Amino acid sequence: MDRLKKARRIVVKIGSALLVDQKTGTIKASWLASLADDVADLRVSGAEVILVSSGAIALGRRTLGLPKGKLELAQSQAAAAVGQIALAQAWSEVLRARNIVAAQVLVTLNDTEERRRHLNARATLSTLLGQGAIPVINENDTVATSEIRYGDNDRLAARVASMMSADCLVLLSDIDGLYSAPPNKKGATFIPEVKAITPEIEAMAGKPVSGVGSGGMITKIDAAKIALGAGCSMVIASGHVEHPLKRIHNGERVTWFLAEASPLQARKRWIAGTLQPSGRLVVDDGARSALLKGKSLLPAGVRGISGTFARGDTVSVVTEAGLEVARGLVAYDSGDARRIMGKKTSVIEKELGLAGRDEIIHRDDLVLMTGER
Ligand code: GLU
Repeated sequence: MDRLKKARRIVVKIGSALLVDQKTGTIKASWLASLADDVADLRVSGAEVILVSSGAIALGRRTLGLPKGKLELAQSQAAAAVGQIALAQAWSEVLRARNIVAAQVLVTLNDTEERRRHLNARATLSTLLGQGAIPVINENDTVATSEIRYGDNDRLAARVASMMSADCLVLLSDIDGLYSAPPNKKGATFIPEVKAITPEIEAMAGKPVSGVGSGGMITKIDAAKIALGAGCSMVIASGHVEHPLKRIHNGERVTWFLAEASPLQARKRWIAGTLQPSGRLVVDDGARSALLKGKSLLPAGVRGISGTFARGDTVSVVTEAGLEVARGLVAYDSGDARRIMGKKTSVIEKELGLAGRDEIIHRDDLVLMTGER
């Protein structure tokens, strides 16, 4: 299918049941190799790929000799500690065989929810992608406490897709897509395309069903909401076959959830919609016209600052006459911003004692408020 081919940044989520043989508790090596071939092909066609891989608990529980059935939280966290090593090793080996560097990234809910950490995680992942590596992400199960866990990698993958402005999220699952009712029920029909998450669509998700992983259709619909809200299309496809990505490309039956905006449009809409910016940056004429031309805001163009804000907060950018030109996510907190305002980018490091970003607001984090959006 063209949609996957057209995507430039793709997040692929792999469920535990696909990766780990339930009988032996070991990695399904030939399936993994077939997926790695598909990933390598996507990269050859110019896409950036981020993997979100489950399987740590499923792999570790047997090694630790834990019983079958539902584990207690501390037991699954212990299992994850053991299994994550094996999981990372499997990915590292299978990708290395295709000349791709794998990078393990373990995240907790806060890393994608809290803005400052979000900016850091995004910068790290962007750097990895820029260097040609493939991030292999999982939840940091061992330290995440139950209250702040995702618990399922469907939503985690959607958060990652949103944070990274991916344009396609692939959920490889043990089911091939969304049905109007549980697939074993009479009259259940397959839904190939969804344009919006309506109450009817939510009702189709029913109750969680999955065996090894923790996600059912409900978490997939939640993931779709996050993804579509971020301008990222999502596809649910069966991973029970070899070469699961190639099969999507070849037009195999899947469910597509189609985003109507692009990731950048969605992000900008979200920034523009901030009800109460946390502060104001007053800019000079030079900076104002640079912004109107689509450039980032540099510290040199900032004349004054009001308010107290943290890194990642939305601030309003105003002219000396008080007219709002733009809004954006600020890359420095208000204290640091005051110290570097009016200064050339090259002196930021000297001023703050650390090498920060060149821009005070990066253009991807900035939206014009002058009607020229
Ligand atoms: N993070 C869990 C693991 O790696 C999986 C969560 C899920 O099943 O989605 O075992």
